[in-house]
Amino acid sequence: MRAICVLGSTGSIGVNTLNVVREHPELFKIQALTAHRQVTLLAEQCAEFHPELAVVGTAEAAQELEKLLRQQGLKTQVLYGPDALVTASTLSSVNTVMAAIVGAAGLLPTIEAAKAGKRILLANKEALVMSGDIFMKAIATSGAELLPIDSEHNAIYQCLPDANTSNGGSRGRYTQLGIKEVLLTASGGPFRTMALSDLSHVSPDQACAHPNWVMGRKISVDSATMMNKGLELIEAHYLFGLDATHIQILIHPQSVIHSMVRYLDGSVIAQLGQPDMRTPIAYGLGWPHRIHAGVQELDFKSLKGLSFEEVDTERFPCINLAYGALAAGGLLPTALNAANEIAVQAFLDGRLKFTDIAVVVQKVLDRFQSGAANSLELVLQADLESRQIAQLILKDY
Ligand code: NAD
Ligand code: MG
Repeated sequence: MRAICVLGSTGSIGVNTLNVVREHPELFKIQALTAHRQVTLLAEQCAEFHPELAVVGTAEAAQELEKLLRQQGLKTQVLYGPDALVTASTLSSVNTVMAAIVGAAGLLPTIEAAKAGKRILLANKEALVMSGDIFMKAIATSGAELLPIDSEHNAIYQCLPDANTSNGGSRGRYTQLGIKEVLLTASGGPFRTMALSDLSHVSPDQACAHPNWVMGRKISVDSATMMNKGLELIEAHYLFGLDATHIQILIHPQSVIHSMVRYLDGSVIAQLGQPDMRTPIAYGLGWPHRIHAGVQELDFKSLKGLSFEEVDTERFPCINLAYGALAAGGLLPTALNAANEIAVQAFLDGRLKFTDIAVVVQKVLDRFQSGAANSLELVLQADLESRQIAQLILKDY
């Protein structure tokens, strides 16, 4: 039985996780759920899944949740704040943590769960981008299992030779395993073909209208700027131990192939499926077994064709910012992620033009004094500093 904590249960990934869990009551038990502000939905989830613990962001939200739960005679304990997220992800009754908080807020509960040896289902790519080697070391030291949920990384994982026999054990053994490179596919988002001159006027709602995937607003904007693929490049580097020259980003507008692995003998192994996150979520929950995900079958006869293009880095400058941060290493990926979070929020709030997201991130990277990412404290400090620099830069916009 997998006893699960869902960090970010009210979000797009969180809700889809519960959709898969609901189908398999004999396999899964929900022990803890966390949300930031969506108390009503969290209360409904508690009424259905009866977790031991529920966590929200603030004292007021906790009070509201207590009230809703007690009215229904539910016994779920309620806590709030960042420390309570760690309590939830490290409960002794939990053996599996779905890390589905968006952004840096997910780092501490996820890395603490890794240290505690839980199976980590990683959707929260920002946590890994921020803390890279430290995160992977925490996994290796505790012997925790790490399964990528991001669809591309989940696809790559499935295409690796030893996905079923070890836990991402290919790390650092690429030449031995005959792997030439991984091909990270990207849809190109909603603005792939829009006239460049129109990009500066697009609205948050336009940016969030992804052609193939329904996701939270932050990752939707990241998909529109393609910073999402930049973050995924860094994510792939840390997850699979590959340098940037062994990771190729490829535009594939249909989002049918979720990524591929190219081998030295000329073979390319791809994972295909509907653009539906329940597939990678079910893979992670059920691993090493395959379970039903409730996803519609891919109908090959109705596919209109699969096409591929090179990335246009003039249109998507965030890709090069990510390559640059990865090449520089140290605390620069942390700064990249923090600057992007602030710039995206400013865009969503109507304070920044879409095309200025990349400009603000570039300026933060130029000003940030990087160093070695030797400890979690340094990572958190770099995150904070980059956010402060970004806020200062935003004053000029
Ligand atoms: P979302 O915005 O729909 O949900 C985010 C969740 O995090 C919510 O439950 C929210 O309550 C919680 N949260 C937000 N801020 C918080 C804070 N400060 N403290 C505690 N909790 C907080 O986001 P999403 O689309 O579900 O994405 C979640 C993560 O998964 C992101 O890192 C994203 O990059 C990754 N991911 C998402 C998808 C997708 O299809 N949605 C695909 C791949 C990867
Ligand atoms: Mg992805």
